[in-house]
Order: sequence, then C-alpha cells, then structure tokens
Amino acid sequence: MEKPQQKLVISEKDILHKIKELANKIDNDFNEEPVVFIGTLKGAFMFLSDLVKHIKNPNVEVDFVRVKSYGLSDKSSGNVELVKDLELPVEGKNVIIVEDIVDTGLTLKFLYERIKELNPKTLKVCALINKKERREVDVPVDYIGFEVEKGFLVGYGLDFAERYRHLSEVYEVVKDE
Ligand code: 5GP
Repeated sequence: MEKPQQKLVISEKDILHKIKELANKIDNDFNEEPVVFIGTLKGAFMFLSDLVKHIKNPNVEVDFVRVKSYGLSDKSSGNVELVKDLELPVEGKNVIIVEDIVDTGLTLKFLYERIKELNPKTLKVCALINKKERREVDVPVDYIGFEVEKGFLVGYGLDFAERYRHLSEVYEVVKDE
C-alpha cells in the first residue's frame, strides 16, 4: 500500500485498544439510555464506525454532519459552514459528537453551539485526537483518544488532499528536507 512521506504516530493496535477503552467509558456513563452518535464527515467516518462496534448499549443511533471551514491556509479560518445537516431529531436525547481531530477548536465550537440549540438532553464530545498547539477557543472534549502536540496527520479517516483516509494507522506527514 502506498504511504505518504511519513512517520507512524498511532498504530492500528493502539487505536483499537483506545477505542475499546472509550466505548467502555461511554457505556458506563449512559448504560442503556438512548445515545445518538454524530460523526463529522469525512474525517471521523472510520473512528465512528469502529467506536460504535464496541458499544454494548442497545439504544444507539448514528448520524453524520459535514462541516467545512473556508480559508486559504491549512488552518481552520473560523468561517465554518454546515454542508450536511443532521437528519435525526436530537431534542431531549443524549448526543455525542464524534470528531476525528480537534485543532484550533473552531469547527467543533461551531458544531457544539449548533447542536446545543436543538436542546439535546446531554451533549458530549468524543475526539480521536486532541491537537493542542494551535487551540484558539475553549471547547469541551469529554472523551479523548490521543493527545498530540503538533504536526499534520493523515490516515484513519484523515486526509491530505483527499488521499490517505483509508490507512488503518495515523501518520505525520514529513516534509522533504
Ligand atoms: P479545527 O477547526 O479544530 O482547527 O480543525 C478541525 C478540522 O481540521 C478537523 O476536523 C480536520 O478536518 C482538520 N484538521 C485539523 N488538523 C488536521 C491534521 O493534522 N490532519 C488532517 N488531515 N486534518 C486536520
């Protein structure tokens, strides 16, 4: 399989181990109460899919949103737009936003506030990767897979110009010297 110029950051084994831990925590917090998992397309598709497979709660629903941030740099501009909205009603329900990676926090803040307006019973955030170096706004992340300081990551849902999403591990793209 072709790989980018890269350094392995999180292995498939570590991802799976962490997902089981997160799923356990979520099951302990909600037991059999209904929970709606909302994945953010496209980056969180693989994480959401693996996460819900390990949830034992029988009362689970899954939905997706797609959020786009416009700007010229590789960094979130804060001009965030909802390209695909929720399809399931979430009023009065327990909702967990499932994000691939939180960087500046601007995308998640936008989504959090948008879903909060729909009056869910509870609203939590689960992120595979919390990348803290460029955080600009405070956003609550209740379930965190991995803390990473910096770097541009690809694989396991994360892309570089739409490539590498299918890789089962997370890599940092290393620039040629
Ligand atoms: P934020 O609004 O928190 O700055 O950015 C969140 C979004 O930016 C993520 O959902 C993801 O799509 C993208 N993003 C942030 N950091 C990375 C990264 O290291 N690699 C990739 N592929 N996307 C990233």
